[in-house]
Amino acid sequence: MTRTVYVNGEYLPETEAKVSIFDRSFLMADGVYEVTSVLGGKLIDFEGHLARLERSLNELEMEKPEAFDDLLEIHRKLVDLNGIDEGMIYLQVSRGSAGDRDFVFPDPEVVKPTLVLFTQSKPGLADNPVAKKGIKVISIEDIRWGRRDIKTVQLLYPSMGKMAAKKEGCDDAWLVEDGQVTEGTSNNAYIVKGGKIITRNLSTDILHGITRAAVLRFAREAQMEVEERAFTIAEAQDADEAFVTSASTFVMPVVEIDGAKVGDGKPGPVAKRLREIYLEESIKSGI
Ligand code: PLP
Repeated sequence: MTRTVYVNGEYLPETEAKVSIFDRSFLMADGVYEVTSVLGGKLIDFEGHLARLERSLNELEMEKPEAFDDLLEIHRKLVDLNGIDEGMIYLQVSRGSAGDRDFVFPDPEVVKPTLVLFTQSKPGLADNPVAKKGIKVISIEDIRWGRRDIKTVQLLYPSMGKMAAKKEGCDDAWLVEDGQVTEGTSNNAYIVKGGKIITRNLSTDILHGITRAAVLRFAREAQMEVEERAFTIAEAQDADEAFVTSASTFVMPVVEIDGAKVGDGKPGPVAKRLREIYLEESIKSGI
């Protein structure tokens, strides 16, 4: 099926949508993005994603696209036009195209940002069978840049991490810096020990996950103990449970780390419960 996508104010068939070869996201990875999930035709955690987008733009001194205030309407229209019941909306803003290649940022008065959105239909996203058996991860060195709190389109290393995991028959990689886990290639990482949920504290070392914020809020509301601090791979392998969170996988149990089973090698009760609560509450508050 040909999707309808959004490019700089226009809704177009995907085959007709065009961006300049001089666009700075293409030449310099000078762009930021957001992924919002759709469940039951509703947008999940939309306000959080919009707030993080604004922050990413500010941190990079990138202009807001003209249509910034219309983003909710644009998301909703794409859901409608493409008949999305379960899936995702990808949004990207770049610093635009100055019609040539230059390291210097173009004058924002002259060059406007490029705004692109498209949908990805994923029927069965909430009832993902993978969540019932959990995923296996490997660990690799975190050699990304130092501003991982900004959601930029520089995704080559995370992509290489996923490929390294695949080569070893695993699903994903956890990134390790100075002996401590930062996060997954495209998710935040957690362990559970003695009922306590442990996840790395927020800093420029990790992306401030929108799902992370919601899951930690629900966990605290459910009287679960949460500790925000770094942990090692050895500590994770010795934990009772492990899991990851992201907008597209929600809460996903991790059952093996570098070949060592976590707990009994099956999804644990805390991850299962948090997945249930997250799905229930976020569907309820979807817009
Ligand atoms: N960490 C990284 C590196 C990510 O790429 C992502 C999502 O893409 C996350 C964490 C999870 O963030 P969110 O819950 O907002 O999807």
